[in-house]
Amino acid sequence: MSVAPKTPSRFVPKDPKALHPETRLVHAGTTRSPFGETSEALYLTQGFVYDNAEACEARFKGEDPGFVYSRYSNPTTAMFEERMALLEGAEAARATASGMAAVNAALLCQLSAGDHVLAARALFGSCRWILEDFLPRFGVETTLVDGTDLDAWRAGVKPNTKVLFLESPTNPTLDIIDIAAVAEIAHKAGARLVVDNVFATPLLQHPLELGADIVVYSTTKHVDGQGRCLGGVILSSQQFATEHLQTFLRQTGPSISPFNAWVMLKGLETLALRVERMQASAGKIADALAGEAKIAKVIYPGRDDHPQAALARRQMSGGGTLVTFVVDGGKDGAFRFANALRLIRISNNLGDAKSLITHPATTTHQRFTPEARAEMGISDGLLRLSVGLEHPDDLIDDLKAAIAAL
Ligand SMILES: *Cc1c(COP(=O)(O)O)cnc(C)c1O
Repeated sequence: MSVAPKTPSRFVPKDPKALHPETRLVHAGTTRSPFGETSEALYLTQGFVYDNAEACEARFKGEDPGFVYSRYSNPTTAMFEERMALLEGAEAARATASGMAAVNAALLCQLSAGDHVLAARALFGSCRWILEDFLPRFGVETTLVDGTDLDAWRAGVKPNTKVLFLESPTNPTLDIIDIAAVAEIAHKAGARLVVDNVFATPLLQHPLELGADIVVYSTTKHVDGQGRCLGGVILSSQQFATEHLQTFLRQTGPSISPFNAWVMLKGLETLALRVERMQASAGKIADALAGEAKIAKVIYPGRDDHPQAALARRQMSGGGTLVTFVVDGGKDGAFRFANALRLIRISNNLGDAKSLITHPATTTHQRFTPEARAEMGISDGLLRLSVGLEHPDDLIDDLKAAIAAL
């Protein structure tokens, strides 16, 4: 069989920003093999071979820019990374095996004993664990503040503060943190701001444009979007990637499987469609729940009654795909409600095509004391709904039947 052309062809937009995000999601980063396949190829290989020893030496010296070993990089993973970088408008992207591997690497690669991390208290459970339990064992101090209180951020900065860390909207109470203001506080202190942008998705919020230095995602969520693979990605400047991230990832090995990177790459093609649909449904659901007598509170960043509605409108281009609400009757009420649902399934995941409901107090935030949960606004009647791709009317019917069971 003859194969022409001889070299792989890459889709490199001259000005990526001239293309809409939907277009970048389909094309950016595609590198075609000499076979000219339509869909991105899956290079399920650990290593690479060389024509001769000299070529191998040149590859290792970095004189020839090819691949060496899939712990360092892989053609499928590189396509996923390039698509994410071009979507986010970042100079560099590095994929990891999970969202937590991304968070951990983004922090550890730049921290040393004696450094201080200042973070918002409302964080994904495992992120809190890294900050409160893990980093202190290695001599890194952590302070947690109310992320919505800018004075608390300012007061929390110390001479040895190296990193500020936050997620917005927060999990599960969907508080909005002013990313631009916190970035300014970080930079005044000579520190970097790391933003976990999972809840907002790369489409609805652009932390780098707001001043963040590093953005992390669990691509397990909306990017896969169909509940299959774990993955993560770290986006930053080329300088940060070269000086800090590159070596850390290479030598410690939290690499994503090329198979999972391929699933993520294909997930990106439909991300905009899915997020748009999920967000539209989330808005309808939030409005429907807000009119119900047995629902004590609805939290949705796209509603005018959200405590930070103006800030949400300023830094996000929509309310997102999650709705949080409090049902009457505490834990009993929340359990009765969740158990009465038929379409919406009980799970701790989010960003899936299937709508999923979570009771944070007994799952993701179970290990916290009731006092700590109260401080985070997580009451026993609070439920987090990740809105999926079902028809919104069917979801509203399911929720209304569950309300009737309260
Ligand atoms: C899920 C999630 C993570 C962790 O991601 P994994 O892929 O499960 O490791 C981190 N932060 C946020 C906000 C998440 O939702």
